[in-house]
Amino acid sequence: MTDRIYLDNAATTRLRPKALEAMLPYLEGRFANPSAIYYEAREVKAAVAKAREQVAALINAEPSEIFFTSGGTEADNWALTGAFEKALKTGGTPHIVATAIEHHAVLETLKGLEKRGASVTYVKPDNSGIISPEAVIEAVRDETCLITVMTANNETGTIEPVGEIASYASERGILFHTDAVQAYGHIPLDVKELKADLISVSAHKMGGPKGVGALYIRKGSGIGSFIRGGQQERGLRAGTENTAGIAGFGAAALCAGTSLDEEAAITLAMRNKLEDGISERFPKARINGGANRLPGHVNVTFPGLDGESLLIYLDMNGIAASAGAACASGSL
Ligand code: PLP
Repeated sequence: MTDRIYLDNAATTRLRPKALEAMLPYLEGRFANPSAIYYEAREVKAAVAKAREQVAALINAEPSEIFFTSGGTEADNWALTGAFEKALKTGGTPHIVATAIEHHAVLETLKGLEKRGASVTYVKPDNSGIISPEAVIEAVRDETCLITVMTANNETGTIEPVGEIASYASERGILFHTDAVQAYGHIPLDVKELKADLISVSAHKMGGPKGVGALYIRKGSGIGSFIRGGQQERGLRAGTENTAGIAGFGAAALCAGTSLDEEAAITLAMRNKLEDGISERFPKARINGGANRLPGHVNVTFPGLDGESLLIYLDMNGIAASAGAACASGSL
């Protein structure tokens, strides 16, 4: 593996050394269940509380608004289902405005909600992958209970105008969710400015471990529990906490927050170099995603070239890359 070049950081990232360091005690001696009352448990509980503060700080949220989950997928499922179930209580047929370019975690959840009676409008992006706020606003109806638009696309890195859409939703009293799994830890996000009610984030896309993420739930959003059972996460997300994962997530969030601009500048320089090289060598290649993209995403179309063959060729030459989202890789 050492000589190989890993270019699939949108699928998952290498664990930051500080994250690993933060996790180890909770995989070894500090194994107590944080819900217990004795000293060992209180120590673990304190680590979870510290990580909650660190994960919250990266988006300027209150720690009490962060709920740990098993990852971005669960956070998306929870946000959408929670908004739908809240709307059901008021009667009528809940309507949701989503985009056609959401991750499968959102799209498949929406399919499930449609089977439960929700009606969903899917807004399409323009040629650069941008969702127009006007198109979203046009899709809103009186019975719209939720608007969900991803902060940045996982395949192209295109950053969506979520601020404008969230402000509109807030004025209309409609819940706004954004899947920020790709953006969190890579670009600045501030919940005091972005009027989102629900934000999904995941650790393994920003140097944290796999299998842990969080849902930001703005205070007073009225979202109920999704995973039922014990009283963990203030009664909203049952299940014994992934304490090592949470500690690693917190450490990764702290690292990302400390060096966000610096890391973005380095990644952007590498991205530009790669894109310039591709454009020079392959003048027909098209760089996708528009100008306003996450610093680390490169999405290229090589006209006439088959994606699968290209990936196999790259792999044979020591380069790990993807032609789409990891969860859809069966379709290449
Ligand atoms: N949302 C987006 C935009 C993603 O890129 C991903 C991961 O690929 C997810 C959600 C799912 O996150 P997780 O892998 O933590 O379940």
